[in-house]
Amino acid sequence: MDDVADSDHLFVVADNSSYGIYGATNELGGKVMHLNESKINGYFSYNTRSAVHEVGHSMGLEHPDPKSIGYTPSVDVMVQGGDGTKFTGGDKFYSYKNWRAGKLNRRVNSASTPDGRRIPYPVVKNAGQIGTIFQYGFRYKY
Ligand SMILES: [Zn+2]
Repeated sequence: MDDVADSDHLFVVADNSSYGIYGATNELGGKVMHLNESKINGYFSYNTRSAVHEVGHSMGLEHPDPKSIGYTPSVDVMVQGGDGTKFTGGDKFYSYKNWRAGKLNRRVNSASTPDGRRIPYPVVKNAGQIGTIFQYGFRYKY
């Protein structure tokens, strides 16, 4: 796989049956979204929500603070591990604000491998730690 073009977004289905995360986005405002193959068990599986959640991260949205006003895990798709399926008014406001500020679609989206290939840059934030998706056990499907 090559670098992701400025005008593109890419979903990568990664093969991992042992690690618990459902999905990841290369970084806030990024263009590469990952889904865990082992969590996909149908078109309308829980990972459909994960796909929308990761699109939210690509729009620069973070997980909402549980102490914030209007925190609604039963509604907000950006709550990690929740069951909400919608973008809230705040999500829409901040994604629009991020777009207006030019914070979307302009991040590094690929990395070089030791053998010279370029692959979509798989960075995730997990439990406050930044790491590559490989550190968390994901492997690309080719
Ligand atoms: Zn998330």
